[in-house]
Amino acid sequence: MKSKIVLLGPPGAGKGTQAKIISNKLGFTSLSTGDMLRKAVRNGTELGKQAKKYMDEGNLVPNDIIIGIMKEKIAEISGAFLLDGYPRTIQQADALSAIADIDLVINIDVPDNVLVKRLTERRSCPKCDIVYHLVNNPPKKDGICDVCGTKLCLRDDDKEEVIMNRLNVYRESTLPLIDYYSRNGKLVTVRGDDGTINDVFANIKKVLID
Ligand code: ADP
Ligand code: ADP
Ligand code: ZN
Repeated sequence: MKSKIVLLGPPGAGKGTQAKIISNKLGFTSLSTGDMLRKAVRNGTELGKQAKKYMDEGNLVPNDIIIGIMKEKIAEISGAFLLDGYPRTIQQADALSAIADIDLVINIDVPDNVLVKRLTERRSCPKCDIVYHLVNNPPKKDGICDVCGTKLCLRDDDKEEVIMNRLNVYRESTLPLIDYYSRNGKLVTVRGDDGTINDVFANIKKVLID
């Protein structure tokens, strides 16, 4: 089984959803930069204060802030790991290659019209960051997090005008990573919109075990 994995894909592709399943079912340590940054904002840390304005506008947090922190976090992991939302720029990918030999990059591909619908209908727990979907993956009790009982909300950056900017930022800064990782033969693309969350997981699992 592959052991150092990157999940790549546009906002709304299903990276976070799949990362949680892969981590629960296959024992990977999953590290999400989005979750890490939102936690920092909630706790009012120095990182959170620096990152908030970029996140609210749907822009990337600058490389010089994120790269050093991820270097530390990745060094703390022992065993198989999965990165969700990192790297997102060529500079981040270069920095990652200096500290870890990535075995596999799974690119989750979903068309833009599906992404916009998924993000506007995504509901997130502001306390534990678990995500739901109004139709595709609803919580057991309407509007309430299954795990911690907190009221779910629409993330500020999941409002339509911010979503549009995030998709542009993805195209400009993150899409080039598809070529970057294709060139060294590490990239596998999986469709993220041709079935349920479990169907997509089954396809990812095949790639991981291959
Ligand atoms: P990302 O981390 O890539 O931004 P998420 O994992 O948060 O994406 O998924 C975005 C939204 O789409 C969530 O509301 C999630 O429940 C839903 N979703 C994820 N995968 C699927 C799928 N295969 N089919 C339908 N909805 C999905
Ligand atoms: P999604 O998967 O829905 O796009 P994330 O939760 O991964 O969202 O990221 C939310 C926000 O956190 C991004 O819009 C960006 O501002 C910031 N962020 C997350 N990962 C990175 C990264 N690797 N580099 C810079 N900023 C990041
Ligand atoms: Zn919760």
